[in-house]
Amino acid sequence: MRRPGFATRAIHVGQGPDPATGAVVQPIHLATTFAQEGIGRHGGYEYARSNNPTREQLETCLASLESGRHGLAFASGLAATTTALLLLDPGDHVVYMEDAYGGTYRLFDKVMRRYGVSFTAVDATVPGAIEAAITDRTRLVWIESPTNPLLRIVDIAAAAEEAHRHGVHLAVDSTFASPYIQRPLELGADIVMHSSTKYLGGHSDVLGGCLVTGDDDLAQRLRFHQNAAGGVPSPFDCWLLLRGLKTLALRVQRHSDNALAVARYLEAHPAVRAVHHPGLASHPQHEVAARQMGGVFGGMVSFELADEAAAVRVLEALRLFTLAESLGAVESLAEHPGLMTHVSVPVDERHRIGLGDSLLRLSVGIEDLDDLLADLSQALQQAG
Ligand SMILES: *Cc1c(COP(=O)(O)O)cnc(C)c1O
Repeated sequence: MRRPGFATRAIHVGQGPDPATGAVVQPIHLATTFAQEGIGRHGGYEYARSNNPTREQLETCLASLESGRHGLAFASGLAATTTALLLLDPGDHVVYMEDAYGGTYRLFDKVMRRYGVSFTAVDATVPGAIEAAITDRTRLVWIESPTNPLLRIVDIAAAAEEAHRHGVHLAVDSTFASPYIQRPLELGADIVMHSSTKYLGGHSDVLGGCLVTGDDDLAQRLRFHQNAAGGVPSPFDCWLLLRGLKTLALRVQRHSDNALAVARYLEAHPAVRAVHHPGLASHPQHEVAARQMGGVFGGMVSFELADEAAAVRVLEALRLFTLAESLGAVESLAEHPGLMTHVSVPVDERHRIGLGDSLLRLSVGIEDLDDLLADLSQALQQAG
């Protein structure tokens, strides 16, 4: 049978009318425990941490959207990442993309190191950089693409080849892209991770995370640790995420159209020194992005002004773009990474990876483009 398209699967997989009542939207199953017919005889549900119907619907849908076989939902993106790292043992080594999400870096550096796991950062946009850092203790390569906030692109298929030549698993944090744009498992990755808090939820009202894999053995070990460590989402959060997923295709297409137009506008503006967006021909990995993101580049844009003072003036003059951290929801947000989301990264390290003090990051929402451009235009008058 023909496999239904992405938008159809987002609405139907794992869902459909409630068999008990015909309700077109499935009820939220809040029960924490489930009646057994006899000892150990039940319909697949025992206790809600291990499994519950609402989470199972979400996990089934997520697996389908990422072209995987197994989806696992968590209470946050970091709970998902933590659970993936629980597969490691003391003495194991991880190679990771150097401008990883700040919270991921903190988890590696401040938590997992204490359990005897070591980490090496590389610029994974450079071919061969991952392979060069792999040792005989390496068990995992962890990359992000696009990265935050510089929107660098890692060639996921090439990274998978480099990792697999050494028998190492590749995990990809694909939060900035969403499965509408890019499906790392199709490119050879072993695990894809999302902060569902961002595009999957899409409305700034639910925290969540997920892991998806096509590997039965990895899935079984992840499932064991999901239950053993317990970082699971509530049924209500799962239900909100299922609702968000139904419009993911529409939202991400509009986010991407708006963001590309905003990036082009900024690139032509005399007060703007540089614009980072994978859809621009000027982006250093534009060709890789065009290939692995299917010609849709996501809703994130970052840009540089003359100096920090100009960046702060522009940021504070924006009206429609809300000054806030986070990303991926319907409303447009703006922030200063150096002073806000990335303040925990040491300043030398920030500058080394090219994250300057005049950089602003936009999460371009799905409002009318003319209104977004008008707001940027009036705010950029403060840049001079
Ligand atoms: C937000 C984010 C995370 C962490 O997710 P939480 O849901 O906040 O725990 C991880 N990676 C990326 C790229 C993110 O943007």
